[in-house]
Amino acid sequence: MTKYVVVGGGIAGVTCAETLSSLCPEDEILLITASPLIKAITNYKKITKTLEEFDVEERPNISLQSKCENVKVVQKSVGSLDAKSHVLRLDDGQEVVYQKICLCTGGKPKLIAEQNPYVIGIRDTESVQEFQKRLSTARRVMVVGNGGIATELVYEIEGCEVVWAIKDKSISSTFVDPGAGQFFIAELNKKKKTQEGKPSKRLKYTVDDIKISESNNTPIGGALGPDWSADLSMTGTQEISHCVTVEKCVEVQAIHTKQEFEKSGKRCCVLSGNPDQGSWPIYVELTNDKVYGCDFLVSATGVVPNTAPFLPGNQFLIADDFGIRVDDMMRTSEKDVYAAGDVCTAGWEPAKHWLQMRLWSQARQMGAYSAQCMVADMQGQRISLDFCFEVFAHVTKFFNYKVILLGKFNAQGLRRDYEILLRVTKGLEYVKVVLRDGRMEGAILIGETNLEETFENLILNQTDLTPFKDHLLDPDIDIEDFFD
Ligand code: FAD
Repeated sequence: MTKYVVVGGGIAGVTCAETLSSLCPEDEILLITASPLIKAITNYKKITKTLEEFDVEERPNISLQSKCENVKVVQKSVGSLDAKSHVLRLDDGQEVVYQKICLCTGGKPKLIAEQNPYVIGIRDTESVQEFQKRLSTARRVMVVGNGGIATELVYEIEGCEVVWAIKDKSISSTFVDPGAGQFFIAELNKKKKTQEGKPSKRLKYTVDDIKISESNNTPIGGALGPDWSADLSMTGTQEISHCVTVEKCVEVQAIHTKQEFEKSGKRCCVLSGNPDQGSWPIYVELTNDKVYGCDFLVSATGVVPNTAPFLPGNQFLIADDFGIRVDDMMRTSEKDVYAAGDVCTAGWEPAKHWLQMRLWSQARQMGAYSAQCMVADMQGQRISLDFCFEVFAHVTKFFNYKVILLGKFNAQGLRRDYEILLRVTKGLEYVKVVLRDGRMEGAILIGETNLEETFENLILNQTDLTPFKDHLLDPDIDIEDFFD
């Protein structure tokens, strides 16, 4: 019997195994992952109490064993789980008996038209390679979705026309409000600043470098990590830099083949002022009745938790977003089964300024905390919810701007009685503060604002800002000094 088993070699699973290893150096820990590469966090840096930044390296599985001597990594796929008997069955028939297990199998891209060969999703190194290959011969691509992946793709693709189809009124709306979306719109068709000469932040392995076992030649890779798009060539065949057309408030209605389109008698939208664009492999019809011919379509419409192997025969509570529900100790509803990262849904009453989003920062935090909970339970102790779940905090980059999101940054779940304070300098910064009853509930900081630490404190302390409201975003006042 193995004391601790972790399933999944993404950020959540690897962090969970590493934390277990450091808390219980004497116990055997087994990490089972379908992919030949694991995700290792490097250059971890705390920017503020809750904001963290790190790089992610893809490493051969063996590297984890070298770093943590009591962790054994097995590259196999999990077929099923018998939670009552504490038995995990692998695809090759092997059975693993465990005392405690943590499920960290991430999510799968939610693809529109999954069976269509001209529709691809972006999730792991392999899917990015496939995307790059197709883009290298493409004249036009349609990107569908309005989250982080779509935003990064639209920014990175060059030499190819892009039609960006979003179902909302403004771009990047999973993360930012319409005002910030408007701030970014100006960047859409700008020539990209060259990144040449910049050293790559992460060490890269590709699956070609790693021998994949014959029994498992289609591994499910882990989701990509920070800077996944930064030093990849994403160039099509055209002599253009950026050429993005945004279609707002639409969804994909139908994807026609060339023959279907020709028979339909519909008309195709013309871009770049050139009506003679030849024919296309697919014609995408949007709900505004516009039809665009494209070489292929990228479906970046989110992920669904990857729960399939674990559900048959077990009684897991499943949340509305299909994640496995966990309590404030990362326990699922099945005894001794924990879950962390994209596969799970936080089922506890969240702190006032926290919300779950399927992000690498939360995958790391949940992976580490679930390990602490497993060990505490084994030792008959109870620990309280980690401080990182007190305030939502995320740092990322969109259109080459630093983006920091704090607390209820989009006034999520607030009644209508909140106020917004704004400071915008075109091409430089966008600062939005959400106030309710004079207290700061959240903030969006775009650009080098240096306000994150002070604003995080104001959210945590719930200082009454009513007397200072008019000066809070005054650029001539050193706010840090003011609240020191
Ligand atoms: P994953 O990284 O998906 O790992 C799942 C692991 O489980 C993999 O190792 C897989 O091989 C293994 N596995 C799956 N099924 C089985 C099985 N049956 N048996 C054994 N092993 C199995 N987040 C951000 O914060 N900011 C961003 O800008 C951002 N951009 C992103 C861009 C892309 C293209 C993608 C795909 C994601 C992005 N994310 C971003 C999300 C972030 O990457 C994920 O939230 C995070 O990596 C999830 O980690 P995880 O460990 O839960 O799952």
